[in-house]
Amino acid sequence: MTDCLFCRMVGGAIKPDIVFENDHILAFNDISPQAPVHVLVIPKIHIATLNDLNDTRLGGEMLEVTASLATQLGIATDGYRTVFNCNTHGGQTVQHLHLHLLGGRQMSWPPG
Ligand code: 5GP
Ligand code: ZN
Repeated sequence: MTDCLFCRMVGGAIKPDIVFENDHILAFNDISPQAPVHVLVIPKIHIATLNDLNDTRLGGEMLEVTASLATQLGIATDGYRTVFNCNTHGGQTVQHLHLHLLGGRQMSWPPG
C-alpha cells in the first residue's frame, strides 16, 4: 500500500468527494476549502511535483479538465484562480502533483 495520500484516493482506499474522473485524472473537493469552490485536479499516476511533470499531453489534459470544471461549477465568467504549489517555498504539503481550482470570491494579489 502506497503512503501517498492522493495515490490512496486514486486507488479507492480513501474516498474523496469526487467531482470529475476519467482514465488519467481525478478531481475532488479540497477537505479544507479556501474559497466557495476549491477543487484539486490530480493525475492518476504518481508525479511528485510540477518539477517532475514531463508529459505535456497529461499536463494539457489537466488544464483542459480544470477549465471545463470551472465552467461546470459556474465560476468561469466571474473568474477563478489556478495554483500549482511546488516544494517548500511554494507551500506544497502533499507530494503528489495537484492543481488547485479556486473560485466563488474575489482573489487578492500578490498571494501570501
Ligand atoms: P498543497 O498545500 O500541497 O498545495 O495542497 C494540498 C491540499 O490538499 C490542501 O489544500 C489540503 O487542504 C488538501 N488535503 C489534504 N488532505 C486532504 C484530504 O484528506 N482530503 C482532501 N479532499 N483534501 C486534502
Ligand atoms: Zn501519489
